[in-house]
Amino acid sequence: MGSELIQIMVANQPGPPGAPRSSSGAAGEAASCAAWGLVNERITANGAYGAGRRPGPANADQPSETVATAGRLKTFYIETFGCQMNVHDSEKVQGVLMARGMTPVESHHEADLVLYNTCSIREKAAQKVFSRLGVFRKGRSGARKVIGVLGCVAQQEGERFFERAPQVSLVCGSASYSKLPELLDQLETGKQRLTGLTLDTGECFETEMTRRHNPFRAYLTIIEGCDQRCSFCVVPMTRGPERSRPSDKILAEARRLVDQGYTEIQLLGQIVNAWHDPSLARLSFAELLSRVAEVPGIRRVRFTTSHPRYFTSDIVQAIDANPNLCEQIHLPLQSGSTTVLARMLRGYTREEYLEKIHGIRKARRAISLSTDIIVGFCGETGKDFEQTLSLIKEVEYDQVFSFKYSPRPNTLAEGSRDAIAEEEKGRRLTELQELQRQIQVRRNQALLGESIEVLVEGYQARLGQAVGRSTTNRVINFPGSPEDVGRYLTVKVTSAGPNSLVGARAEKDSRV
Ligand code: SAM
Repeated sequence: MGSELIQIMVANQPGPPGAPRSSSGAAGEAASCAAWGLVNERITANGAYGAGRRPGPANADQPSETVATAGRLKTFYIETFGCQMNVHDSEKVQGVLMARGMTPVESHHEADLVLYNTCSIREKAAQKVFSRLGVFRKGRSGARKVIGVLGCVAQQEGERFFERAPQVSLVCGSASYSKLPELLDQLETGKQRLTGLTLDTGECFETEMTRRHNPFRAYLTIIEGCDQRCSFCVVPMTRGPERSRPSDKILAEARRLVDQGYTEIQLLGQIVNAWHDPSLARLSFAELLSRVAEVPGIRRVRFTTSHPRYFTSDIVQAIDANPNLCEQIHLPLQSGSTTVLARMLRGYTREEYLEKIHGIRKARRAISLSTDIIVGFCGETGKDFEQTLSLIKEVEYDQVFSFKYSPRPNTLAEGSRDAIAEEEKGRRLTELQELQRQIQVRRNQALLGESIEVLVEGYQARLGQAVGRSTTNRVINFPGSPEDVGRYLTVKVTSAGPNSLVGARAEKDSRV
C-alpha cells in the first residue's frame, strides 16, 4: 500500500471536516514527502494537524516511566506505525476506548493506557516499537500505566513479546481486535500478560464508534487480512485470512460519513480488489466502487491497495462511468522481471502486468499510476534489475514507492541462500529512485498551465500557502488563506518539481 510510513500520534480527534483548523499543516509535510500515503501525520489535542510530540528515544540508563496495572483506565495514548490499514485500525481502537469513556491524551506521560500499533512489513519498521518501549521500565509499585502492543509485530512475536519487553501487559494482533473490550476489562482487574493472537477468524473489526483523524479523507475498510502467499511478505501471517465486509454495511458507513461532513472516502484493504460481497447482493468490486461513488454527497472515492492479479477491466470501466472515482490507481509491481515475479509468487508475468497498464491507459480520463517496487530480492540479477528499470521507463509512473528487500520471519523467502548484499541493494535503490525522479519532474512539468481541482487540506501561515490535493493525488501549493481549508478550488499550475506542484487560484473556482 504505497510506502506507508505513516505515523500517527493519536490524541484528540479533529472536528468534523468543516471545523476550524490550525494554520500549520500536515499537508505541508505531505508536500515535502509528496508521496501517496507517505505523510507523517501527527494529530494534536485540538485536532489540528501539526508537529506532534514523540517520546524521546529509548535510553536504558534513564528509565522515565514506571509500569504497573490495576484500576480503572481513564486516559489513553496510541501511536501508530505503518500502513493506512494500521492507521484506520487505530481510529477504530480509539473509538472502542472512547466508547468506554476513556479520554485520549497528548503524550504517553499522561496516559493510563499506552498502545503501540505496530508494523512489521520490513525489519526497520518492526524495530521501532522496541525503541519506544525502552522508556517504560518496571518500577515504582502503585504507579498506574498499562502498556499494550497491537498490530503486526504483536502478532508476529506473540507471547515472546513478554520476554523481550516485560513492561508490556497486552499483546494483540489485528485479527483479534473485536476482543479488545473483553481484554480491557481484564486489564482493569489487574491481569497481566494478556494476548489476543487468534488468526482463525471470519470476523471483521466492526466498531460502533470510530474516531477518524483526517478531517478530509475518511478511511473505510472493505476487506481485512490477506490470502496471498507472496514469498517476501509477512502480512498473511500477521493479519490472518481474507474477510470481506458485506456491501450493505460498507454503503451504510459511506452514507454515515457523508452525514458527518466527509466528501472523500478511501476504501481500504491489503488486497482491496480481492473484495467479494458476502451478502446476497453479490456485488463485484467494480460495482461496489460505483455504488459508493453514487452515494449523494461523495465527491471523491479512492481505493488501495489493488493487486494486479485481480485487476479487471471493469474497474477501469467504473472509473470511466463515475467522475467521482478518482483518477488514480496504485498497482504494486514489485519487480519488472518475470523470473523474479515467479519467485515472489506474485501470480503474474511482466507481460500480463503491462497488459493491465495498457488497459488503464485506454481509460477516457488520464489515470495517474503509482506502484511499489522491491529491489534486491533474493537472486535478483543485474539483468532482472534492468528489467525493472525498463518497465519503469515504459510505464512512466507518477509515483514509485521503492524498498530494499527485507527478509521477514516465517515467509517462504526467509533464509534464501542467494541474498543480495545490502550495499548492492542500496546502489540499485538509488539508481531506481533517480530514474523515477526524472520521470516525475517530466510528468509534473507537462501539467504547467493546466487548471486542476484540488481539495484544500491545509494552510501554512508562515508562507501564506494553502496546500491542496488533486484527484490524481498530486499535492499543489498555492497562495491562499485559512478559509480555503476544506474547500474544493481550481488552481492553475505555475511550476512543478518532482514531488509537488505550485499554482495560483484560477479565476473560476469549482464547486465548493
Ligand atoms: N498487499 C499489497 C500487495 O501485495 O500488493 C502490499 C502491501 S505492503 C503493506 C506494501 C509494500 O511493502 C509492498 O507492496 C511491497 O512493495 C513492500 N514490502 C512488502 N514486504 C516487503 C519486504 N519483505 N521487504 C521489502 N519491502 C516489502
